[in-house]
Amino acid sequence: MEYIVAVIVGLGLSQLAGLITTVYLHRVLAHKAIRLHPALIMLMRIGTWMFTIVSPREWVAVHRKHHNFSDVEGDPHSPHIEGYWQIMIANVYYYKREARNDNTLEKYAADLPHDRLDKFLFRYPELGFVFTGALLVLLMGLGPGLVALTVHTVVYIILNAAINGAGHTFGYKSFENDATNLKLLALVTFGEGLHNNHHARPASPKLSAFRGELDPAWPFIRFLEKLGLAKVLTKADQGWENHRRRIPTTTVSPLGTSSLKAVAKD
Ligand SMILES: [Zn+2]
Ligand SMILES: [Zn+2]
Repeated sequence: MEYIVAVIVGLGLSQLAGLITTVYLHRVLAHKAIRLHPALIMLMRIGTWMFTIVSPREWVAVHRKHHNFSDVEGDPHSPHIEGYWQIMIANVYYYKREARNDNTLEKYAADLPHDRLDKFLFRYPELGFVFTGALLVLLMGLGPGLVALTVHTVVYIILNAAINGAGHTFGYKSFENDATNLKLLALVTFGEGLHNNHHARPASPKLSAFRGELDPAWPFIRFLEKLGLAKVLTKADQGWENHRRRIPTTTVSPLGTSSLKAVAKD
């Protein structure tokens, strides 16, 4: 029973890490679509350190470079350049390779210099990982604690690989770019699976664009806004029109065959 609880805790933590990633690292820091209350920023920084194993400055730099060179030479993690399975299996390697590049950090994250807290704590995400692991072991016991930590880490890594790999390979496209939308992936990544929409309008605070698409982080962001803890800075629903050059909805199946569905109408 305690191991079932451990798996559930691990899954819960991977979702929490996904929520922090999409709201804070992605929409707040990388694209500046949302501003958070300073108290919530501090919580997000602690959460990032404890649950995501990334340094915000590195994540933002690698991600902005990905937008700059999407699926062309220079993209840190393109399945079209490196290969689909390479990204699905070794996304962490490709991420780390770019995160170690000082030029990338200086060029793409100049607006995010390390402050004092970063210098002695938050720039060491591995330390946060060990801290979280120790906390889980303390609270749940050695075996279940390690199971929870492993499930959390593996699921979080797989979901991020799926956004970068599958999210540039399989699914449907509403806009003309190399990324794809996967509704099912969006449900377990707080909207990040709607990656074709995101590449069309990176600064949109909301990742769903059309009826039938769900970005689970969006109601959460609206809720934070109601509490006065967040402010949406860019347009959520207007603005898609500028990108609304809809292309025929193409679905790419995992077998590599494309099927052309009806041309989407607005
Ligand atoms: Zn992408
Ligand atoms: Zn982005």
